[in-house]
Amino acid sequence: MRAEIIAVGTELLLGQIVNTNAKVLSQRLADLGIDVYFQTVVGDNADRLRQAIEIGRSRADLLVFTGGLGPTQDDLTKDALAHYLNLKLIIHEPSMTEIERVFSSRGMEMVLSNRRQALMIEGSEPLENTTGLALGNALKVDGTLYLLLPGPPKEMKPMIEGPGETWLRTMMGEEKPLFSRLLKFAGIGESNLEAKLIDLIEAQSDPTIAPYAKVGEVSIRVSTKAMTAEEADHKIDRAVEQIKERLGEHLYAQEDVSIETEIVRMLRASRRRLASAESCSGGLFAELITNVPGSSGEFVGGVVTYTNMMKNRLLGIPMTQLEGDGAPGAISESTAAMMAESVRDLSDSDFGVSLTGVAGPAEAEGKPVGLVYFAIAERGKETVVHTTHLSGGRDMIRLRAVKAALYRLWQALQA
Ligand code: ATP
Repeated sequence: MRAEIIAVGTELLLGQIVNTNAKVLSQRLADLGIDVYFQTVVGDNADRLRQAIEIGRSRADLLVFTGGLGPTQDDLTKDALAHYLNLKLIIHEPSMTEIERVFSSRGMEMVLSNRRQALMIEGSEPLENTTGLALGNALKVDGTLYLLLPGPPKEMKPMIEGPGETWLRTMMGEEKPLFSRLLKFAGIGESNLEAKLIDLIEAQSDPTIAPYAKVGEVSIRVSTKAMTAEEADHKIDRAVEQIKERLGEHLYAQEDVSIETEIVRMLRASRRRLASAESCSGGLFAELITNVPGSSGEFVGGVVTYTNMMKNRLLGIPMTQLEGDGAPGAISESTAAMMAESVRDLSDSDFGVSLTGVAGPAEAEGKPVGLVYFAIAERGKETVVHTTHLSGGRDMIRLRAVKAALYRLWQALQA
């Protein structure tokens, strides 16, 4: 099924508000297996709304409207669609009663325009608004589906997730429901990942494989239509096996969790503890780990040793290592290793992780922006130092460096 989202509101066109409803709706429809081909934004203007309906009808099977269901004269969506379809607007009595009840309970007088919120297009299905007053509508006319949702996100979201989705599923008829699983990857970029899977992505129509990317992590949604969850699991498992064969060393979870959550889980399961010593990342590693609820059992603590003096005083790294002619410097493999080992031993942890590098904008110690060393020092094992050359601005380099360190730590935890 092809869908178009039509967001109605002059505020959107003036840039006064962001069209967050489009994002929420697109994600929801994708989860239902509905392809969104277009997103349109149109102002509160009857003529242009009519044009949007006409264009939408010509290229989609489902038009999802959001906004313009309110009480005022510029809330036009129902009027415009009813007019376009040559249908009448009628009052939905239960909604009318509810609106009257709300007004009288607040001791407010109801004006005529409030009645507009209880209007529905004749022959449509009324969609209850559990967080507001404007009634939603859903209808099918000449093979096209129309779904009318309110503009306020706190009203729109429950409506699409509740009665909207139920109606869509019914309209999709015998089509089997969609099941999907999210695979989370680290330590690999989107283009690399796609290159490794391109033949699967292109050849497979069931299950479908769709990649999504964020900084430092990539996800794949594997989706299939099936009558039962077992049947879906079986199909998805087979696709996941194929993906694992190619990308197993990057696949850290088969659900929507962050890599730091997975790391904390693994530390807990193996009763091991972690500490960090950071320089260029300024505490971001510790920040991400401590974002995981309950991580205090596994994360002992971290230090931000930004200057050489602090690296020396807190971590005991000799000044001769950090400064002076012929010294390796603070940004070096050997300093990274010393920082990780020192914080591990000081805190009596099983793992020490360190990061030291040049986040920019200027180079440091004659070393280029983006050069970051990070070390994983595991008790009883040889410390491993990784060297990365990262691109992007200061924030991006810091985040990418931390994500890279998390990925290597996750690998070390598996060994
Ligand atoms: P109401 O019953 O409140 O009048 P409505 O369905 O008529 O709702 P609008 O009047 O179009 O909706 O918008 C009401 C508010 O909802 C806007 O001021 C804005 O804050 C929010 N809103 C509307 N459309 C969107 C959108 N596409 N994305 C995010 N927020 C939106």
